[in-house]
Amino acid sequence: MNLILMGLPGAGKGTQAEKIVEKYNIPHISTGDMFRSAIKEGTQLGKEAKSYMDEGALVPDEVTIGIVKERLSKPDCEKGFLLDGFPRTVAQAEALEALLSELETSLDYVLHVKVPEEKLVERLTGRRICPECGATYHIEFNPPKEPGICDLDGTKLTQREDDQPETVKNRLSVNIEQTKPLLTFYDEKGYLVDIEGDADIDAVFKQIDAKIGGLSK
Ligand SMILES: [Zn+2]
Repeated sequence: MNLILMGLPGAGKGTQAEKIVEKYNIPHISTGDMFRSAIKEGTQLGKEAKSYMDEGALVPDEVTIGIVKERLSKPDCEKGFLLDGFPRTVAQAEALEALLSELETSLDYVLHVKVPEEKLVERLTGRRICPECGATYHIEFNPPKEPGICDLDGTKLTQREDDQPETVKNRLSVNIEQTKPLLTFYDEKGYLVDIEGDADIDAVFKQIDAKIGGLSK
């Protein structure tokens, strides 16, 4: 079960990733986690990545892909994986194709969680975060028990700069433009599966489950 999860910010990717991992017991591999663990383990590639990150520079593709390779070669990926945040470009997607064929496997599906842009704006601007513990809430979909206060520690919730409407709209259009070529790439390869993300969590998961359930035999 080799999966990629795609979707714009606010599409509910994280929640769906958790549900997939829980049911199918494959590792959720996000780019951030992957870099962090390579750096922590002190692998050669981890050290290289860190030197770029310390300078605030983009980590070059060959380093990133090397780290992806190390990660996908680990025993917990034997039954499959759920990649999240990688690939970001067609060049990376092509490198991933080559890497998977080297590992004598291939992708099954690219799950694209789709939500209309105006809904995403609604979702993203309603997000509130606890500056103390990092818990996230949503004024509509996941409100704290007491408005504006963290359930866990009573801290006053804040809205991230990133969640202001004009910032959100800009971020979304940049994202949409960047993602287009990648979606086309995977569509042409026949991997792309559109998941209707404008529904409740379980209804979205049902669609994913219906698609990937047949893979876990
Ligand atoms: Zn808190």
